[in-house]
Amino acid sequence: MTNRREFLTKLSAPFLAMPVLAELGINCTNEPYNGPILKVALMGLGGYATRVAEAMQTCKKAKITALISGTPDKLKTWQEKFQIPAKNCYNYGNFDAIKNNPDIDAVYILTPNALHHPQTLRVASAGKHVICEKPMALNARQGKEMLDACKKAGVQLLVGYRMHFEANTVDLIKQRIDGQFGKILFFQGLSGFRIGNPSQWRLNKELAGGGAMMDIGIYSVNGARYMVGEDPVWVTAQETKTNPMLFKEGVDETIQFQMGFPGGAVASCLSTYNMNNLDRFFITGEKGFAELLPASGYGPIKGRTHKGELNHQHVMHQTTQMDEMAGILLEGKKPLVPVDGEEGWKDLVIIDAIYKAAATGLKQLINYK
Ligand code: NAD
Repeated sequence: MTNRREFLTKLSAPFLAMPVLAELGINCTNEPYNGPILKVALMGLGGYATRVAEAMQTCKKAKITALISGTPDKLKTWQEKFQIPAKNCYNYGNFDAIKNNPDIDAVYILTPNALHHPQTLRVASAGKHVICEKPMALNARQGKEMLDACKKAGVQLLVGYRMHFEANTVDLIKQRIDGQFGKILFFQGLSGFRIGNPSQWRLNKELAGGGAMMDIGIYSVNGARYMVGEDPVWVTAQETKTNPMLFKEGVDETIQFQMGFPGGAVASCLSTYNMNNLDRFFITGEKGFAELLPASGYGPIKGRTHKGELNHQHVMHQTTQMDEMAGILLEGKKPLVPVDGEEGWKDLVIIDAIYKAAATGLKQLINYK
């Protein structure tokens, strides 16, 4: 006979996490789901798309129904693996035809950063919702054009901010809103890893739009906003480059940046492609502190406060993200922290200011207009 402890040990982590997620306002119960399903086309079948596709296999509200890729062999393999009919497979030349395909509600753009802007405009013209990976575009101007295009087309634009649905993160944000830490005084964000292959698009200014800041530093920018609960009004920044062969002109290796918030809190952050073991968010306020370590990796995410550890079980971030995004797109659900285009655009406004501050050595005031 199985005792309770053995039974609990045998339960999968996602099952254990469900009541916790439900408590946090994230819909992840074990009840059978009979509501609408978000029909998703994945565009760009690379490393991250692979992770998203695997995670979506356990989604209840979202399903992969179409594929868009420039590589015929890859399309064929994915088509077989995920049982996608040939009529729902497109390439970059013909995907505007999704307009007439009722099997697609939304396109998830998972291509290199520079392609997000033109591809979003095309998907919006085809009348489909857009889920776009971070960074949403190469700069705030492009981001604004994407917001305008989606508004004009009457479709929604979401950005792949998976941490906004992660249970430990959501719990800390709720505690901060609840006043558990008092007035927030300081945020520290450390985001970095040592990048490998020198020929990858992440080190190509044209495709990446920059370097570490666009790819990993953005987590500290976005994290500062949801941990503090405000948008910064000024930034200062300093850039260091130890390897100009690997990190060419316009590709940042390491940037330290500081931000000031309307309520008086300040932030100190590091973005780098040249150091490992950097994935930590920390806030301290007048009544207590909170830490996420790691804070933005694929998990498990670990959280603690002045009161002790958080113990929310790990669920694949992209599973929760896609179920929650289905709720937003199909049922008008409002997440605790927005994942809409405006949220992505604000990060780009801040990143533009960080680059300008690093280049000029001058403090930049931020105006969200
Ligand atoms: P990747 O290189 O593994 O995949 C990119 C895909 O785009 C490939 O299939 C490639 O064939 C395709 N592609 C189409 N046009 C291309 C072109 N002109 N040049 C190069 N590739 C082209 O990259 P990735 O790691 O999957 O990243 C894709 C996007 O996802 C990026 O915007 C990245 O920032 C984002 N991302 C987000 C997370 C997250 O946790 N939210 C994690 C990783 C990547």
